[in-house]
Amino acid sequence: MIAPVALDSGAIPVALDPGHPSKPGDTGCVSPDGTLFEYDYTLSMSRMVAKILRLMNSQIKPVLLRERSDEVVSLKERGKRSTDAGAKLVVSIHVNSSVNNRQHGCLGFHWPRNWMGRDISNAILNAMPPQIRSKWLSIEALNKPDTPDDDWLDAPRDVMRYHPATTILTELPYASNANDLKALHDDDVKLAMCMAIVTGILQMPLYLPGGLYG
Ligand SMILES: [Zn+2]
Repeated sequence: MIAPVALDSGAIPVALDPGHPSKPGDTGCVSPDGTLFEYDYTLSMSRMVAKILRLMNSQIKPVLLRERSDEVVSLKERGKRSTDAGAKLVVSIHVNSSVNNRQHGCLGFHWPRNWMGRDISNAILNAMPPQIRSKWLSIEALNKPDTPDDDWLDAPRDVMRYHPATTILTELPYASNANDLKALHDDDVKLAMCMAIVTGILQMPLYLPGGLYG
């Protein structure tokens, strides 16, 4: 066991947003075999990301926007919590699912024209372990997608819009795809996915005032 590092007095709050439940009964996606519930999975992954950050970095203070598995937190309340925490970055963590069980890999979303969000989201996607890495770059969370029946483009924006800070949404692989589901349950892949998220978060100070791109 090693102790968490002592936080610097000016440590920058980063909000980790474990996706779902945002209303009663909202479990998020469930794998076809019933072994994965998104709301549970996102919480355990967010906790692991927070733990890694606490162990390795004194300049970033992780703040969870949901603490317990059975806690229902509306999207609006999550926005209030990230604001109250003074978060400079919000990372919303979800698990993907589709009626098309061939869809696979990770996706990332950022707010249109938010370059810090785009770069951090891409850094996370690029650092993902090969078996679940996506060929896609981070996608802008669009207001009016050209294809109105594509709900999946509207949903990220709904999740992100309550946060005043730069917000990104990371969709972990598809619970609906057999290979992805196997990866989602693999402890080594889980650790690697959390490390990928940490890799992106650690770039944040570069984009703040006084940073390389700030
Ligand atoms: Zn979700």
